[in-house]
Amino acid sequence: MSLRLTLVLLTVTTTESVSADRSRPLTAAAVTPSPVAQEFKWEVENPERAWEFVVIHHSATGQGSVESIHRDHQSRRDRNGKPWLGIGYHFVVGNGNGMRDGKISPTFRWKQQLHGAHCGSLRHNSLGIGICLIGDFHQTEPTDAQRKSVISLIRTLTDRYAIPSKRILGHRQIRATMCPGRFFPFKDVVKESMQNNVTFNSFNSVPVSVR
Ligand SMILES: [Zn+2]
Repeated sequence: MSLRLTLVLLTVTTTESVSADRSRPLTAAAVTPSPVAQEFKWEVENPERAWEFVVIHHSATGQGSVESIHRDHQSRRDRNGKPWLGIGYHFVVGNGNGMRDGKISPTFRWKQQLHGAHCGSLRHNSLGIGICLIGDFHQTEPTDAQRKSVISLIRTLTDRYAIPSKRILGHRQIRATMCPGRFFPFKDVVKESMQNNVTFNSFNSVPVSVR
């Protein structure tokens, strides 16, 4: 079964004003989506959650996909001994090994607007959108395509839910972990995702499949 979700990111240019006042208070109901966010096709089955955080992870593996992580996470159990529902993230960004380089794949948790299971914090799992980039960023940097994709994804989500930059977090800002790895250019990614003059022309009409 495959749902098509198209993330069209062609609308931000230097000439457009994007409604991204990063200092505004957090009220998801009051969101006025920017042109970028409006182009996001919200293939969700349930009402959207009032997301407040974006949490970035790496897979700590050289290769992987939504399916491989899903299988791995299905074998895990929570603190009460209950098995996880499956992949704990909301989005995965491929690196060319197991998934196309730069491909953004939403998971069932996004489609169903479910809480995440990715960062060991009830609050951040409940209200945080978990994004996992395939790769081991203790060893290498993300690919250029991954970097561009995650910036565009963060931008789209933070516009949609009025999430300020201080609530874009790396996993290690929540728990004692190195995730998403010392070579992940966290500050630059956050900074670039906040810029209004970024062009996303290289992402036009990137098709995103949900399996
Ligand atoms: Zn992590």
